[in-house]
Amino acid sequence: MPAEIIDGKAIAGRVRIGVARDVAAFGDEFDGARPGLATILVGDDPGSAVYVAGKQKACKEVGMQGFNFPLPVDAPRAEVVALIERLNIDPQVSGILLQLPVPEGLDGVELTGMIDPRKDVDGLTPISAGLLALGREGLRPCTPSGVMTLLDAAGAQLEGAEAVVIGRSNLFGKPMAQLLLGADATVTTCHSRTRDLAGVCRRADVLIAAVGRARMVKADWVKPGAIVIDVGMNRAEDGLCGDVDFDAVKEVAAAITPVPGGVGPMTIAFLLRNTLLAARIQRRAAS
Ligand code: NAP
Repeated sequence: MPAEIIDGKAIAGRVRIGVARDVAAFGDEFDGARPGLATILVGDDPGSAVYVAGKQKACKEVGMQGFNFPLPVDAPRAEVVALIERLNIDPQVSGILLQLPVPEGLDGVELTGMIDPRKDVDGLTPISAGLLALGREGLRPCTPSGVMTLLDAAGAQLEGAEAVVIGRSNLFGKPMAQLLLGADATVTTCHSRTRDLAGVCRRADVLIAAVGRARMVKADWVKPGAIVIDVGMNRAEDGLCGDVDFDAVKEVAAAITPVPGGVGPMTIAFLLRNTLLAARIQRRAAS
């Protein structure tokens, strides 16, 4: 029986509706206040510009304020630092997002680390990463959070399950593994030096691919009945595709995300959710 196709677009739509409702409740509670997201875009990379525009548009759709700060490609480090410091203390700004990657000459990890952890809606500062590793409350990275919701929607029973994550980036693979561990899965993280990648993947009840290599995960890498989440976004000759050979794997898996329309829409939905959560954390800290 072919796999259930996990409809990330529909699930993300429901998350957004929930956020819009909670933004309205936030306003009722705090004299009409609205959470605000500040995005910083350094340089003129067209892909990054599209992402940032999408985030800004999504903010407005759920009733939040959006502020975008474009800086030239040759903006000196001091200018970016001064902007982050200004936004850190701006009460209108609940969340700050530095669009990555930043141009050569700037250090994205260093600059991200300057964001006030209470405004770290990407969940990428050392404080947020540390809170996640310790299993303490904090702002979690958006894409892995979205994947947890997709797994839930697919009925994944994570407790005691074998979960395999391909990819160990700070942005996705590492926090994904931490979230799965927090949900009591038995987690293996694979990367470019993993021996017998196919064999490790075949053990997985839940297989998550975040590599950036078109259709790398083949049907014979997948345990029959596994849930497969495809995070990859690759431009192939025939259009956008994931890291999983979707047409073949859907004949083996119990459930699978498509690309596009799977993980992608969840990222922005969770960015909105994090911005609202950040606004609440700041209100709590101020009272
Ligand atoms: P990344 O920083 O480039 O990390 C890629 C990971 O894949 C690295 O850990 C790398 O291993 C591993 N890898 C590379 N070749 C491999 C191979 N042959 N076998 C096994 N592992 C291999 O990428 P990322 O930021 O995590 O993103 C991964 C993919 O997800 C990209 O396609 C990206 O566009 C997509 N993505 C999508 C969203 C979304 O919202 N949908 C969000 C984030 C990322 P090493 O560490 O050993 O180099």
